[in-house]
Amino acid sequence: MADFLVSARKYRPQVFSEMMGQEHVSNTLRNAIKSGKLAHAFLFCGPRGVGKTTAARILAKTINCETPTADFEACGTCHSCTSFAQNSSFNIYELDAASNNSVEDIRELVNQVRFPPQSGTFKIYIIDEVHMLSQAAFNAFLKTLEEPPAYCKFILATTEKHKILPTILSRCQVFDFRRISIETIVKHLREICVQENIPFDEDTLHIISQKADGGMRDALSMLDRLVSFGGGKLAYSEVLENLNVLDYDYFFKVTDALLAENVSDLLTLFHQILQKGFEGDDFMIGLCEHFRNLLFCKSEATANILELSSTLKEKYLQQALVANGNFLINCLALGNECDVRYRMSKNKRLTVELALVKMCFVNRLSEVGFSTDKKKMVN
Ligand SMILES: [Zn+2]
Repeated sequence: MADFLVSARKYRPQVFSEMMGQEHVSNTLRNAIKSGKLAHAFLFCGPRGVGKTTAARILAKTINCETPTADFEACGTCHSCTSFAQNSSFNIYELDAASNNSVEDIRELVNQVRFPPQSGTFKIYIIDEVHMLSQAAFNAFLKTLEEPPAYCKFILATTEKHKILPTILSRCQVFDFRRISIETIVKHLREICVQENIPFDEDTLHIISQKADGGMRDALSMLDRLVSFGGGKLAYSEVLENLNVLDYDYFFKVTDALLAENVSDLLTLFHQILQKGFEGDDFMIGLCEHFRNLLFCKSEATANILELSSTLKEKYLQQALVANGNFLINCLALGNECDVRYRMSKNKRLTVELALVKMCFVNRLSEVGFSTDKKKMVN
């Protein structure tokens, strides 16, 4: 299992067609290579762990490949490609501006730019977290970015596009990388599990993908950690515990208790959740997410937006049949109000319990003109 602990590296995409969730970027880059109209500077923007550096490396490898394929992908076998794979290529320079952001760091880079590549066609400079460069470093870099030698390509990457100066932005071709969908992450994790003979189930992969919040790198490092923790397998309950995720089942049960106006079940469930070590506000946020999912199940168009495994989606569709829209909207309003009050409350547990009890009778309360309006609230 030891050799599995590098899945982020082992399964890193090597060519454009393997890049996941960023087809708009890889297609545009490939077309530019094809037409020979490649910009000299690129700015890759987007959340962390969605493939910006990977795309930069693929671009660098492809434009230096000696025998590219008919689809304009790197061949992976020529001298240039193999030296890239072994990290021994002299044509690619990576600078992490988060830790090397001084004017000296940039001057050193600018000095290197003057020398043409010893082999291959292009020298590629990747500057990660470029927004971290100091003002002086930015200024030292601007001239080079403006008039670089023809053999130079700059790929700047950032998670914070708004911090990039307009003078830099205007000199770069900008690509916006997206968060990767849960479906795409699940698919990739599934492929890895199959390849590595790791027993898994779909719901577990969904939990990991959801927790990764659009970042493939986070999803893969979680997978590594969970598999090594689980002794070579992924067990649903262990994964929930490890990622500190509350089982969906609790939200279904809480909603059932609300619909049945069963206060006793409701408060017992909340007690169990607290006993498991979850915070009241996290539970309330999760419950509101649950109500939102139910609301989205009310129409086919919105149900399709939900990123859920098929078994889980079926459960949501079933519960949505018994939870009416009015109930859900009122509960969401109460949940939202609880979220606001929670921070100020001295008795946080009671704040959540009160919101839950109100939710329990929300259908009746609306009959007698219940409102969350401040003046009418019972203090
Ligand atoms: Zn090649």
